[in-house]
Amino acid sequence: TNTGAPVLKVMDTQCPFCSVQCKAQVIEEWAPGATKPTYRVEPKMNAASEGRLCIKGMNAYQHALHRERLTEPLLRQGGQFVPISWDAALTLIGERFTALQDQYGRDTVGVYGGGSLTNESAYLLGKFARVALRSKYIDYNGRFCMSAAASAGNKAFGIDRGLTNPLSDIPLAKCIILAGTNIAECQPTLMPYFTRAKENGAFIIAIDPRETGTTRMSDLHLKVKPGMDAALANGLQKVLLEEGLIDASFLGARTKGFAELKAHLEALDLEEIAQLTGVSEANIRKAAVTYGKSSTAMVFTARGVEQQTDGYMAVRAFLNLVLMSGKIGKPGSGYGAVTGQGNGQGGREHGQKADQLPGYRLIENPGDRAYIADVWDIEPEELPGKGVSAYEMMEKVHAQEIRSLLVMGSNPIVSNPNANFVEEGLRKLDFLVVADMFFSETAQLADLILPVTSYMENAGTLTNLEGRVLLREASRPPVGQSRDDWRVLSDIADQLGRGQYFEYGSAEDIFEELRVASRGGIADYYGITYDRLRREEGVYWPCPSTGTVSTGRLFEQQFAHEGGRAELIPVDNHMPAELTDDAYPLYLTTGRVLSQYLTGVQTRRSRSLAARDVESFVELHPKTARAYRITDGELVRVTSRRGTIVVRSRVTTDIRQDTVFVPMHWGDSQCVNKITNQALDPTCRMPGFKVCAVTIEPLVSG
Ligand code: SF4
Repeated sequence: TNTGAPVLKVMDTQCPFCSVQCKAQVIEEWAPGATKPTYRVEPKMNAASEGRLCIKGMNAYQHALHRERLTEPLLRQGGQFVPISWDAALTLIGERFTALQDQYGRDTVGVYGGGSLTNESAYLLGKFARVALRSKYIDYNGRFCMSAAASAGNKAFGIDRGLTNPLSDIPLAKCIILAGTNIAECQPTLMPYFTRAKENGAFIIAIDPRETGTTRMSDLHLKVKPGMDAALANGLQKVLLEEGLIDASFLGARTKGFAELKAHLEALDLEEIAQLTGVSEANIRKAAVTYGKSSTAMVFTARGVEQQTDGYMAVRAFLNLVLMSGKIGKPGSGYGAVTGQGNGQGGREHGQKADQLPGYRLIENPGDRAYIADVWDIEPEELPGKGVSAYEMMEKVHAQEIRSLLVMGSNPIVSNPNANFVEEGLRKLDFLVVADMFFSETAQLADLILPVTSYMENAGTLTNLEGRVLLREASRPPVGQSRDDWRVLSDIADQLGRGQYFEYGSAEDIFEELRVASRGGIADYYGITYDRLRREEGVYWPCPSTGTVSTGRLFEQQFAHEGGRAELIPVDNHMPAELTDDAYPLYLTTGRVLSQYLTGVQTRRSRSLAARDVESFVELHPKTARAYRITDGELVRVTSRRGTIVVRSRVTTDIRQDTVFVPMHWGDSQCVNKITNQALDPTCRMPGFKVCAVTIEPLVSG
């Protein structure tokens, strides 16, 4: 009980829930006589969020303070979890990992990370897999988020930084294409940038099979068939070409590959594209001509385009559009992959991916291996080779090639496609260790659960969707015995006899090493320090020296490929990996809702957010509902070739008649990924979350 004067504690923090990384203050107040504090949240000024917070940011603190937070290590014993000490937990991990690696080889233990981890934790997780475990198997949930756009950006521009322009350029654009992005629900504090652009006369084109808060802002909504984004982008390019709306001097001076692309586009048939995409020729023409004639323009893609089995090529098709028109590298003209996860950008730069080392270096490149081995003080030949992507790791788990897994910052049983198969695999593991704040669906299968700190308790840097690195300081002490992710990794490394490579006293110590590891790489952080981040409102990479005034606008003079030219590529009108038929006559597409984040482990535990969306749902068109004798609000079975889920119907004209939509934030019988398709993009290994074939029926018929 507070027996004295009112006590106020103001905690500076940063919302953990999306790639804007809005700054905030959580204010804890103890009134006189109060037995517990009250909390309120205020937005804090920052260049990206401009002092805004959305409903997720306003309520994020609720999960950090939640009574279900894990406070001590838990060991599965006889079908129950019992608390054990950290010493006992770490000893057990050391013994089990060592025994399994001795018996089955080093690669039998894998690591599965997350795109919401800080840069320091993401970096250390990559180093932990390669130096402590000496295993090639590491990947992370960002594979499902940014891999298509990342591969496309790297191949087309020579660099993958989400936005090629600062957010402040958006209001300067006279035309904006929003392809497969629902900013109104996923990054709500960005919406005012677009409304300002509209006030300045911008024409906004939305591409989405659904009507959303984002498409309602648009001047033209192209309600594309799921999975046909690449074909639609081809149609837009073809019209640009036909109408002479290309920038020949830009193409000649700053790109390569246009002759092949031109020949490819000339051979395509716009009428056929209209049929394939479900978008009329007139609307394809209107969109392309408006974009082409605008003095400035920006194109944004997100998961709607990218979470496809041709996601890499679909993004390349939109990048062709940008490059053909020369609308990049200028104020108000550029491209943006709208990153989803809180550290979706930084999470993919520091070595959590199977094929990457820190600084976006490649694990199969001898020079890159030698550089990182030197930073890590090991021999290059000690570094393992390339592993496999996130879902392919689950296939290795299922086949028992991987017999033990450390999961950190992720809930793979809900976020992987074909989740029934994934669950079967995880149940076969000899030893599953999950580091989490909560008893997530994946933690429920663990042999050992390690409690970790929340965003309010751990310090670290995160890189927002602009490529702007931001420092988030710790604002509360750890809950119970929970530990920071980086400390857990160092402690386990100690047990594996590799502690000498993991001697850090703070997140800043790790960042100092990360700076050096990234030096000279694509994502160069060398010039960024904690001191600098405390003084400035974030610092963009690339930042090769502490004196660099880093820029939010890339490619003003040249692209990052050797020779400075961007690359164009012909893209086919791919069809989805799974088509509808008599048994499964509807397309299923998946996505997000305003109140929830990822698999909902945190947001479903925030009472204000949970109250807004208590359960999942299936959105279906009134004509579809009538055809299947389904009424609004009743429970519906949605079945694909991989399983069935049961969710409540929402009947709405927002969705195409041939398509149903289910959000991805819920687990168990509402887990939409139990029915999504595991087919992968051949280049970036992104699963096709955005389209598969399903059928629906009322749970209770008659
Ligand atoms: Fe900002 Fe995103 Fe958090 Fe909303 S969810 S407050 S937009 S960081």
